[in-house]
Amino acid sequence: MSGIGAIVAGFVVPLAVFGLWLHHEAASRGGVPAYVVRLTLPDGTRPIDLPPIEGPADASRPLVVIDAGHGGHDPGASGPGGEHEKALTLALALAVRDALIADGRVRVALTRSDDRFLVLQERAGIARRLHADLFLSIHADAIEGAGASGATVYTLSDKGSDALADAVAARENRVDVVNGVSLGGKDDAVSQFLVDLSQQRMRASSQGFAALIRREGEGHFRFRDAPLQQAAFVVLKSLDVPSVLLEAGYISSDEDVGEMRSRRWRDDFGRAVARAIEIFLADQNGTPGV
Ligand code: ZN
Repeated sequence: MSGIGAIVAGFVVPLAVFGLWLHHEAASRGGVPAYVVRLTLPDGTRPIDLPPIEGPADASRPLVVIDAGHGGHDPGASGPGGEHEKALTLALALAVRDALIADGRVRVALTRSDDRFLVLQERAGIARRLHADLFLSIHADAIEGAGASGATVYTLSDKGSDALADAVAARENRVDVVNGVSLGGKDDAVSQFLVDLSQQRMRASSQGFAALIRREGEGHFRFRDAPLQQAAFVVLKSLDVPSVLLEAGYISSDEDVGEMRSRRWRDDFGRAVARAIEIFLADQNGTPGV
């Protein structure tokens, strides 16, 4: 039981006993209870706590949210030696974070920095609530069949973009701001047009970041054939944050697992990905040359 659960239970049980006694007293006098005690219990729908923002204290610096895939009771894929994807993704996310902090150019937050479970919407939700400029989800899934190895960089697919428009409409009780463009008071056709424009811009931006990871990663970590891919990942269905899902390697590949388990390899990976992040965010902010 959680701390708050214990506290609530600590109140509920004595209150229930008190209530029964009160009811008994009132009933014995032939009346109704003189007092009604109402207690609001936690409903579990409150948003999760936001993670700390690390790096420069200057709030005008761009912010990247790095998401270590899986966690807690969701181990992700498993490797031949019993490795859990959730542990590799966290180690890789920490390596990218450390490289960014060492450079001191951008601010960084992790969706998780320990072994905890988050639903997909919470991961992108953290980026939105922190007003992040970029979102990077790191995975290392298994793949059927032998021989596949190397990294893949995913952006949201066209197929997913219809659902994306729906998700934007439904998000945060129909919040009427998309990318700072107020949709309130516009008719549906105009609103849809703005959402489509926003989607196109975000997808182009995300694909630009994916290409930067490919470019900066070259010579530091291996990519699979045709490494730039598009797919309908739920965690990427976020309009107002350019987002990429990076499969750093396949946990089903002995070669990939061997590399990802190496601290030295992860540090090199972290520096290359950090460089791609810094270049992307510098371009976004109109800062020439990092
Ligand atoms: Zn995964």
